Amino acid sequence: MNKFKTYNIITIGCQMNKSDSERIAGYFEEQGMREETDKYKADVVVLTTCGVRQSAEDRVYGFVPKIKKENPGCFLILTGCLSMRSDVKKRLGDLVDLWMPIGEISNIKYPARTQASSRARQISNKFQIPNFKQDNCSYLELKAKYSSAFSAFVPIGNGCNNYCSYCVVPYARGREKYRQAKDIIMEVKDLANKGYKEITLIAQNVNSYRDGRRQTTDDRKYGFSSLLIDVNKISGEFWLRFATSHPKDMSDELIETIAECERVCEHVHLPAQTGDNEILKKMNRKYTREDYLELTSKLRKKIKPPLAITTDIIVGFPGETKEQFENTVKLFKEVKFDMAYIAQYSPRPGTAAAKLKDNVPKQEKKRREAALIKILRKTALENNKKYIGKTVKVLVEKKGKDGDWFGKTRTFKNVKIDDRRQTTDDRNLSGKFVEVKIIKVKDFGMKGEIVD
Ligand code: SAH
Ligand code: SF4
Repeated sequence: MNKFKTYNIITIGCQMNKSDSERIAGYFEEQGMREETDKYKADVVVLTTCGVRQSAEDRVYGFVPKIKKENPGCFLILTGCLSMRSDVKKRLGDLVDLWMPIGEISNIKYPARTQASSRARQISNKFQIPNFKQDNCSYLELKAKYSSAFSAFVPIGNGCNNYCSYCVVPYARGREKYRQAKDIIMEVKDLANKGYKEITLIAQNVNSYRDGRRQTTDDRKYGFSSLLIDVNKISGEFWLRFATSHPKDMSDELIETIAECERVCEHVHLPAQTGDNEILKKMNRKYTREDYLELTSKLRKKIKPPLAITTDIIVGFPGETKEQFENTVKLFKEVKFDMAYIAQYSPRPGTAAAKLKDNVPKQEKKRREAALIKILRKTALENNKKYIGKTVKVLVEKKGKDGDWFGKTRTFKNVKIDDRRQTTDDRNLSGKFVEVKIIKVKDFGMKGEIVD
């Protein structure tokens, strides 16, 4: 008798983790298991973990004992960025039944057949080799159970070679490995055939994509630009997004491609991390603030306006002085970001920066974060004002509590849709494109009316 019939997956962290969880779910369903929405009732509980910041890690220390207390019989699998960390293993010990680096998904075949037992621990020992000899990419060929019926993440690879000094990802996910373009194209074709409206190609660093087996017709390497061109040709009615781009790899060729491919949305997520050259060097980012500014102005020149530029920032990197932080403030004022994900620096075990003293006080990190958010709110509002009175295409996502619909523009702006025909015409707009006339804007959202 197969003991494990149901599963529940808890995902913490980035889009890549969400996508990994979709592959795990797809794999479980193929094994004949079904999803149980209550994590305290599921036979197998998977925690897809994130180790990018201490706060994400702390959530795992909260979840694991709680799950084992409320659902003591479950088989608990820990995967994601913390699955290779020996200190985390020591801390959680036997509460976790299987430590599973993401590339090993296919090994979880066995919980569908066997019971949680010493066999599990035996297997978990096998996984403790922290050197990524295992393939961390071929699991991406597993069929995903997408969590949305109209918007899908398509991973194009896994891992990172950049070793930014603060970042744990290269240790947690291993070196960069990329899928073959033909497999990615096949997955997107399948989604387009099913009527998906939004495809987001994801990897830690999409613009260093290489399909080692292919060359373009003029003998250049088949890189991210070639992939975008090929995905753009797929028939269907979908928008194309991608994340994340590293500024050092955003080539002129890629900018041209983004500008020319009509499916590719006018939104570039380009993590700057800081606006100070010395800190950039210490972060091992391999570009300067001048490079970043040149890049953003090139993007604005080449890509059809309005182009939304969003970013990631770390405040309070070891040794960051007030003067150095002011350079990030200046960068914010110059670039006029549409959105920024601002993180307070937290040391990550094993990284180069962890050897430096984390000497910016918490209060000061908070102050710096608040100062950037204040500028961001202003620039985002300024950018959004340009939409007033314009009619834009919106992909509708869901209905809010008050009956209004919510969706996003190509530029990744949140739109609340006032559907005046609601009472007479109770349509389901979820997953549909509608034309919306923008009547009001805020910093991080706008409101409009459907026009026919
Ligand atoms: N590959 C992407 C992002 C990966 S991690 C890139 O190159 O930008 C996502 C974000 O987490 C990073 O952009 C960074 O802003 C933040 N981050 C990573 N390590 C961090 C740390 N030690 N402390 C605070 N924030 C961190
Ligand atoms: Fe981390 Fe840098 Fe790689 Fe992004 S590019 S995942 S920040 S090491």
